[in-house]
Amino acid sequence: MPEAVLRQAAAEMLDWRGSGMSVMEMSHRGKEFGVILAQAESDLRALLAVPAHFHILFMQGGGLGENAIVPLNLSRGGPVDFVITGSWSIKSHKEAQRYCAARIAASNAADGHLSLPEPATWQIGGDAAYVHLCSNETINGIEFQQLPDLAALGSKAPLVIDFSSHVASRPVDWSRVGLAFGGAQKNLGPAGLTIVVVRDDLLGHALEICPSAFNYKTVADNQSMYNTPPTWGIYMAGLTFQWLREQTEGGLTGIEAMEQRNIAKARLLYDFIDGSSFYLNKVAANCRSRMNVPFFLADESRNDAFLSGARTAGLLQLKGHKSVGGMRASIYNAMPLEGVQALVNYMREFERSHV
Ligand code: PMP
Repeated sequence: MPEAVLRQAAAEMLDWRGSGMSVMEMSHRGKEFGVILAQAESDLRALLAVPAHFHILFMQGGGLGENAIVPLNLSRGGPVDFVITGSWSIKSHKEAQRYCAARIAASNAADGHLSLPEPATWQIGGDAAYVHLCSNETINGIEFQQLPDLAALGSKAPLVIDFSSHVASRPVDWSRVGLAFGGAQKNLGPAGLTIVVVRDDLLGHALEICPSAFNYKTVADNQSMYNTPPTWGIYMAGLTFQWLREQTEGGLTGIEAMEQRNIAKARLLYDFIDGSSFYLNKVAANCRSRMNVPFFLADESRNDAFLSGARTAGLLQLKGHKSVGGMRASIYNAMPLEGVQALVNYMREFERSHV
């Protein structure tokens, strides 16, 4: 979380702007929370340049919940096509199989999820209700630097993206997207809020078994208040949207400024790793994630020493995901360039003292 956002939330914790209430104590149908919700939605729409023919929904259930909610709403029973690029798209595909015929249009499993299959090679069926991909594979450290243009590939299917772990780190080309979903807890706010951005024509096709609270049309018709929304999460995300809109970098503002900062942060870390034989990153250069940087020590017997020295230096949560091993630096929006510089300084010093 950006420190400025945490400070503002702390200052407003007991009494939100003279209302006499904490946001946590407000009725979600009261006028105060109505202001917070409307502001959050309009700030997110402005920040990500979401076109008018898309709905923004504030939901619950997280990314894994959406793995079921998307096929329940969009598959019409299937078939649907998945592009497998790592752990999260594998999970999405597996869950969708419970609700529809979920196929695999392309996969990078053969190379250990280290590169992206070329869109021109994807086997998208003419009958696919949608195509699903994960635009940033958090665990594997793989990111689509550009979303595929399905229409140019001859497909009429809407593209569904799981942008959980890089939402608001870069602009989104909405002309290529039918639906985007993401948990808030990486770049936007506390866990418990899920953002869904969905094109209007995709609403209203849910399977009969779809729970009402997860039917996108029901949620949209009720302005994300069919059931009690995660009010605290929406408030915190709203503060983050405002913080993001205010960011400037090299003459740019908002999401474009954030993108430049994220490019600079990632370049600093990848350049250092590539320039060293002590550390390595195995992901193909054209799809390396700007948010999640997995790396390995060439001599893995030093992993524990690396992690404990990092902790002492105030560099936390660097242990890689258990399915991949090694290290992982998560350098989300709120991580400043100085934080990445501190990591690189530590890595350089650790290398110097261990060769
Ligand atoms: N998709 C991606 C890309 C993720 O990174 C995560 C969480 N790390 C999930 C889905 C699952 O999200 P949740 O835990 O909110 O269900």
